[in-house]
Amino acid sequence: MKTKTIQLNIKGMTCDHCATSIEKYLDVNGIMDKNVSHKESRAKVTFDEDKISRDKIEKLVNESGQYKVIGISEIKTNSVNKKHLIIIGGGSAAFAATIQAREMGVKITMVNDGLPIGGTCVNVGCVPSKTLIRAAEEVHRAKNGHFKGIETGGQLSNFAKVIEQKKEMVQTLRQEKYINVVKDMDDFRQINGRANIVSTTSIKVNSETIRGDNILVVTGARPHIPNIKGLADVPYLDNESAFELESLPKSIIVLGGRYIALEIAQMFSRLGSKVTVLQRSDRILPAEAEDLTNELTNHLENEGLNIVTGNQFQQVSEQNDNIMVESIVNGKLQRFKSEKIIVATGRTPNTNNLGLDKVGVKLNDKGFIEVNDYLQSSVSSIYAAGDVLGKNMFVYVAAYEGKLAVSNIYSPIKKKSDYTALPWVIFTDPQIAGVGLDEVQATEQKIDYDVSVLPLSYVPRSIAARDTRGFIKLIRNKQTNQLIGARILAPEGSELLMEVATAVKFGITVEQLKEMFHPYLTLSEGIKLAAIGFNKNIKELSCCAT
Ligand SMILES: Cc1cc2nc3c(=O)[nH]c(=O)nc-3n(C[C@H](O)[C@H](O)[C@H](O)COP(=O)(O)OP(=O)(O)OC[C@H]3O[C@@H](n4cnc5c(N)ncnc54)[C@H](O)[C@@H]3O)c2cc1C
Repeated sequence: MKTKTIQLNIKGMTCDHCATSIEKYLDVNGIMDKNVSHKESRAKVTFDEDKISRDKIEKLVNESGQYKVIGISEIKTNSVNKKHLIIIGGGSAAFAATIQAREMGVKITMVNDGLPIGGTCVNVGCVPSKTLIRAAEEVHRAKNGHFKGIETGGQLSNFAKVIEQKKEMVQTLRQEKYINVVKDMDDFRQINGRANIVSTTSIKVNSETIRGDNILVVTGARPHIPNIKGLADVPYLDNESAFELESLPKSIIVLGGRYIALEIAQMFSRLGSKVTVLQRSDRILPAEAEDLTNELTNHLENEGLNIVTGNQFQQVSEQNDNIMVESIVNGKLQRFKSEKIIVATGRTPNTNNLGLDKVGVKLNDKGFIEVNDYLQSSVSSIYAAGDVLGKNMFVYVAAYEGKLAVSNIYSPIKKKSDYTALPWVIFTDPQIAGVGLDEVQATEQKIDYDVSVLPLSYVPRSIAARDTRGFIKLIRNKQTNQLIGARILAPEGSELLMEVATAVKFGITVEQLKEMFHPYLTLSEGIKLAAIGFNKNIKELSCCAT
């Protein structure tokens, strides 16, 4: 591959929309990267000379008829082939960064310690939690059918077997999606060891000093253990140990009421543990609107979870092989006792003892790394990505940022990180899925909005399944009629998310959403019905409403 970057000076652009149009014309095979600026009347394009010529690129713009290339110059890049990137961390951000760096001809040293290679997601996060959540769902469904005349049954008979299967899955995915990906990679070296930054371009690991041109810090985060008297002295579990239990605890206290806590709590409850969720705030998921958290609370409580909010924790202790949490709730001292306690009260960054302070990398008050829009830290040669930034702690964001950081280090085309329309999911049942703003955030941003809320009892798919838990909420900008956000509480609600995320990202109007065919008896009909609900009373519509 012979890559080259050129700058095209272009006449005729009047607004950002023109820049977007030109980027679309340049969306062809052979063009690897592009950045068009209407303010600077130019496009920067990186392309593969074996696949496309600069004349062809010029023609792509001129053929629009509206824009004209008036000059082309080559942007000389330092030969990235001679560059050496040190990546500290071996999780998802690190692997996305590695792949991008190799595609750009950069030599890589990846240093990982703590968790096995692959980091949080595959070893102790997404993969183990989601497969165990599915196992728990199977047990729950076996016991709780929705149809009369069908005998339900089935139960958890061998917890250790379920855990063993989970371990096998983790091992397989770690091998296939991480270890094998870099196994035969040229100019790639992986070291197991604790990295310590010793200068702005070098690290020390296992008493070896490694010099590079840049450092990418992708060390992730670990469970945050709150400062509650006695907690550190009891054998508490967290996401790194809870998924490894060999036998199912009879009872569990889950400390925390955000997404990781709730997913774990429902999972163990469905498998058969008696679960109590203890949350400091007045509500679970306190960052979300009340209707959402109240309804989820009801569904979880109906399944038998004990959810206690508004805790002022006093002390945690171990008593006769049980854990006791003493807490003041509504002014009264309460004692909660269980066989195990799982701490899921947030994440703390892996930035300690890394040497960041020695070279002047700025951290925020919680210890997460501060970066600019290009993911560059306060030290120009050091970039950071993923959970260590503490912002959007999802694996697909970590991968996006890892790739973007590398591209910004070595490409002449620098791109800002963009989190518009970032979709997210909480894997409880019903799931919570969200994108864009909710009504509280829209109010804060002084947007003239309105809301359409559609209970699932109006969605034919849910009616047919006899499971109408939840609702779909769409939020639109009244001035533009465009969707600005959505919150979905529904069984498998995450599968609805990308339609609304696409609408939010690309400014699709409620009218356009309504005009789309949505197959009858799919859950996605709910999106159309909710869109119709902005202007019509859904109760009065016939089947396949339009
Ligand atoms: C229980 C749970 C469930 C989750 N479920 C989901 C989900 O369903 N969907 C989703 O999108 N996200 C989920 N996440 C979040 C997701 O796992 C993370 O956002 C993602 O894995 C972060 O990737 P990363 O590369 O930034 O960090 P990590 O994957 O944590 O990788 C960092 C690596 O660096 C190592 N390291 C730390 N310090 C050093 C050092 N000094 N030297 C060398 N190595 C070091 C660490 O041990 C680790 O191996 C979940 C997280 C948890 C905890």
